[in-house]
Amino acid sequence: MTAEANVGVVGLAAMGASLSRNLARHGYKVAVYNRTYARTENFMKNYASEGEFFPSKTVREFVDSLEKPRVAIIMVKAGQPTDDVIEELAAVMDKGDIIVDAGNAYFKDTMRREKAMAARGIHFVGCGVSGGEEGALLGPSMMPGGSDESWERLKPMFEAIAAKASDGTPCVAHIGPNGAGHFVKMVHNGIEYADMQLIAESYDLMRRGLKMTPAEIGDVFEQWNKTDLDSYLVEITAEVLHKVDDKTGMPLVDVIVDHAGMKGTGTWTVQTALSLEVPVTGIAEAVFARGLSGQTELREKAQADPFDGPDPKFDVDDEQRDDFIEHIRKALYASKIVAYAQGFNEIAAAGKHYGWDIDMAEVARIWRAGCIIRAKFLDRISEAFESGTADISLLFAPYFKSGIQEDEPSWRAVVEQAVRHGIPCPVFSSSLAYFDGLRSKRLPASLIQGQRDLFGAHTYQRVDEPGVFHTLWTEPGKPEIKEK
Ligand code: NDP
Repeated sequence: MTAEANVGVVGLAAMGASLSRNLARHGYKVAVYNRTYARTENFMKNYASEGEFFPSKTVREFVDSLEKPRVAIIMVKAGQPTDDVIEELAAVMDKGDIIVDAGNAYFKDTMRREKAMAARGIHFVGCGVSGGEEGALLGPSMMPGGSDESWERLKPMFEAIAAKASDGTPCVAHIGPNGAGHFVKMVHNGIEYADMQLIAESYDLMRRGLKMTPAEIGDVFEQWNKTDLDSYLVEITAEVLHKVDDKTGMPLVDVIVDHAGMKGTGTWTVQTALSLEVPVTGIAEAVFARGLSGQTELREKAQADPFDGPDPKFDVDDEQRDDFIEHIRKALYASKIVAYAQGFNEIAAAGKHYGWDIDMAEVARIWRAGCIIRAKFLDRISEAFESGTADISLLFAPYFKSGIQEDEPSWRAVVEQAVRHGIPCPVFSSSLAYFDGLRSKRLPASLIQGQRDLFGAHTYQRVDEPGVFHTLWTEPGKPEIKEK
């Protein structure tokens, strides 16, 4: 086989097939390989006319069909299958070739793989890809991490196939070395969890608290999509809420089982945040809310053996309804800013910890199109990081600080009603608690330090004197002992 293909794709399921077609549509000659050849045949049957494809039956044939230095993009099931494919490719590739893993890998796996491949002279790029099947076909948001050299080679190709923001710039940037790209993709997904949960909480508050129908709430989301909340997720929410089930004639949302699935990236975001000691309360509560939704036995028990609680109907009469809907919109916006701020804090902490030099403005910029959390206000986030006003937290950037400040009374009013009427809004309320924690000059953490020192001699610091102190708690009146 002659080495004619500019790039190769391994894995022709939903994502790999779409990415291959995207590459071909941009003029690239694409080698395609899939473990099960029937899938390759199927791909060729359906899409051969869309561009120049080079199908292969074996990995060796696939690699031989690539021009040098070779670029092979892996789009297979994350985990062991990815390791297997990397090994098969590396066995027949040469020094200087590039392997891109565009699947949803855990960033530590990417770090491990990059190290192993670098030792063999192969560039390994962990590239987060967001936007689902449609994004992969029409233009995803891409978050590659790897060597500068590999980025130089990949840049024109990735810029061609990535989504384009409204100003025409491609939604792809070199995030940093080794696992940086997959890390940023992981946090993207974590923020997506929080965003979706906030939208779901808004829906629940209107549905149960204001007794609105799904179609009416869909209309509200349509309106909200013309405000600062303009985003893909708000847009599709209106569509979901307007959908009527063909079989029953009921709103489809009422027919769907209320158990939210998850594939693990939200959980990774929270686990990693815990190990980096960065509070990501919005994302964590969103993951836990999905967890509770899936606790079937527990929820069935709570229905069979119910707890008493208040009537969920809010103390809002018909004339006040529109005003309260506006309160919910503002609460959603404020909570969303907190979730994004926390996600960016996690990226910053990882950047420090792993020595990645991540440009936050670039991250916000490449999330503006192609990905699931694409939203109008990412322009503002990007500007905030560029201006240096969001270095410590997005919450301090003037645009967001004044927005949160303006929305704060509404945010509080919504959480108050929700709590009084027993409608759970864990991301609204935890975001508000984070905000209030941040505002507090003194936190009760001083008491916790006292408790820790009493039961475990963990020591504490004083407000009036430098050093580390321990109190002999069981002997009242004894002076504090300065240990260091
Ligand atoms: P799947 O995750 O369903 O994986 C199926 C593909 O993996 C098939 O091509 C399959 O080959 C291949 N595969 C599985 N095991 C092996 C193995 N041991 N060796 C070789 N090939 C193997 O496909 P998707 O297209 O949905 O996703 C691909 C990647 O993209 C995943 O990592 C996913 O997490 C990620 N991703 C998916 C998104 C989505 O919206 N679906 C969005 C963003 C990222 P075979 O045909 O032989 O079974």
